[in-house]
Amino acid sequence: MPFCLVRADITKFSADAIVNAANSSLLGGGGVDGAIHRAAGPELLAECRLLGGCETGQAKATKGYGLGCKHIIHTVGPVWEDGEQGERELLQSCYRNSLALAESLGCKSIAFPLISAGVYGYPKREAIEVAESEARRFLEDHEMDITLVIFDKDSFEISAERFEGIRQFIDDAYAKIREDKERGRREMMGNAACFNALAAAAAVLKDEEAKPKKKGLFGRAKKTESAVPNYDACDAAEECAAEDYFSMRDESFSQALLRLIDERGMTDVEAYKRANIDRKLFSKIRSDVHYKPKKQTAVAFAVALKLDIRETEDLLSKAGYALSNSLDFDLIVRYHIVHGIYDIFEINDALFRFDQTLLGQN
Ligand code: ADP
Repeated sequence: MPFCLVRADITKFSADAIVNAANSSLLGGGGVDGAIHRAAGPELLAECRLLGGCETGQAKATKGYGLGCKHIIHTVGPVWEDGEQGERELLQSCYRNSLALAESLGCKSIAFPLISAGVYGYPKREAIEVAESEARRFLEDHEMDITLVIFDKDSFEISAERFEGIRQFIDDAYAKIREDKERGRREMMGNAACFNALAAAAAVLKDEEAKPKKKGLFGRAKKTESAVPNYDACDAAEECAAEDYFSMRDESFSQALLRLIDERGMTDVEAYKRANIDRKLFSKIRSDVHYKPKKQTAVAFAVALKLDIRETEDLLSKAGYALSNSLDFDLIVRYHIVHGIYDIFEINDALFRFDQTLLGQN
């Protein structure tokens, strides 16, 4: 998956390059910097001494040593003052320079901590937004797996309004399920009562029938006339639609996806980038007509193609999936689609906040 969020200790994460939120001396410090130096061992400090420090917004690379990655990229984030001192631009250049350096070193994967969001005091939501928009920008014309490693749960926030909206949506769906269950239970009890009443009536009838010359309880039912089918233009149109439906029903996921991409006038690259899917996986889906994607991959394409709920259900059904009303993942996806939110980063932020699998993962 090109862009991913994970909750982890970055020193235990596996990637070609691990980014260190260092200070300008590059000689180690607290927070993630301290953790990386401890895990990498004293050789890292020895190489760092040779680098002559690093300016804010810039990035320098060393070997990975005990960290197990090929490279550690040290970048120096801005200290947050009031947001008016060029903090955002400096933070952006940390990501840009680190990504460019990783690219020049031939890295296929890179993991970032939330630069500046610890001791340097950058507001967390804004720090995440910078990280995501820089990843998105880079991935427009590069192929790399970029992971943003979130150390503690509290570091990850989405807007309070979105959070509340989703929570309410989930609560309402579960309340409706409970209501339906309750109604079902009442209906069953009603049916049981009705059945008992009928059984009692039948017993009385039997008794009555046993006595000679007494009338039965029920009259005879009126005979109903059967409707004669009337074949006209409407039926012909319905038949055509049914034919279309059956021919489309036989489409595989891969065929449906490629058809939808064409119908939307999108290129393959646009589609898989918007779906947060990497080129290799897309080629697999393209070349294997019977490819069965994971649900989160199928949903990612529905989002990339901006399908409405019905169209999403259709596409998912071709891979054997459905959106239920009793799974948080499904409800969060549904929430975004019904609200017309088709930005995969935004949806993934919400899924991550609710501890769900992200879209695009395979
Ligand atoms: P800065 O000085 O740039 O703010 P910090 O190390 O204080 O750097 O914090 C940057 C971010 O790194 C914070 O969000 C913090 O929670 C996170 N962090 C700290 N230790 C780790 C770790 N071992 N792995 C991943 N992230 C970490």
